[in-house]
Amino acid sequence: MSRHVIGVDLGGTNVRGALFSENLEVRNRLKRPTHREEGGYAVVDRLVALVRALCNEAGTSVSNLAGVGIAVPGPLDVTGGIITSAPNFPDFTNFPLKRLVEETLGIGVHLENDANAAAYGEFRQGSGRDAHSLIFLGLGTGVGGGIVLDGKILRGAHGVGGELGHIILAADGPPCGCGNRGCLEQWASATAVVRMAKEALESGEPSVLAGRESLTAREVFEAAGGSDELACRVVARMAHFLGLGIVSLCHVVDPEVVAIGGGVSESVDLFLPRVRKFVDEQVFPAARGKIKITRAELGDDAGIIGVASLVRNAG
Ligand SMILES: [Zn+2]
Repeated sequence: MSRHVIGVDLGGTNVRGALFSENLEVRNRLKRPTHREEGGYAVVDRLVALVRALCNEAGTSVSNLAGVGIAVPGPLDVTGGIITSAPNFPDFTNFPLKRLVEETLGIGVHLENDANAAAYGEFRQGSGRDAHSLIFLGLGTGVGGGIVLDGKILRGAHGVGGELGHIILAADGPPCGCGNRGCLEQWASATAVVRMAKEALESGEPSVLAGRESLTAREVFEAAGGSDELACRVVARMAHFLGLGIVSLCHVVDPEVVAIGGGVSESVDLFLPRVRKFVDEQVFPAARGKIKITRAELGDDAGIIGVASLVRNAG
């Protein structure tokens, strides 16, 4: 009997899932709106329906699955399968997602933090597939992170290991949503790039970005690609702090690979050379030139591949 695995990414906007073959190749995939405003139990129903639909499409049944992996945002208790406090899912505080889905489907479910899942996916099938250790940084609206060491996700004693967006780079830096100041997220996220550009524009300095009603990180990167001085300075500042964060992480983990993912990684060519140079200048000599700092390879699929791999390895 073939033992398929399903990986699901529970996002704030969409639930995305894929059914994987025995050797972890995608057989089919589906995406549906999350509608998180309808509450936790409605989201569970939608998740279960997605799993059943994936099985139907592939001509198999839920009972033939080796298990389901779900990548979820926010801190969670992996062992208990409980989402403790996801900022984008206020209705999910202390929500027993694993138990509810297991009881409905009658099969094993593995829950994983979405950034940890993406890190594991990159480690197994992406930029870290030939490595023993990898740091993943997902640069999007915020900064997610994950560390894989000798094939294991570093979760820590209380589930906050690998929260790399919140390592503090400057005690008097900008306030962060987490309640602290000067977190990496406040310089390396898309939100931060927009904030820094707006701050620079307020001085009245000429820029192609001046006078725009709304501004996106992509527009800032495009302007930097067109040699707009203000935009270039913003991207250089972002690269400086990203480099600073990576150097600090390298002195904790000393990884073989640092993979940069998330929406901001589309513009990686504009900041990665500067980040690599910074890290090579600042990291201790033994690691200099040996850490592969690269764009993550799996894009949006990293999370579902990661959770599917975790289920496969457990089975
Ligand atoms: Zn923070």
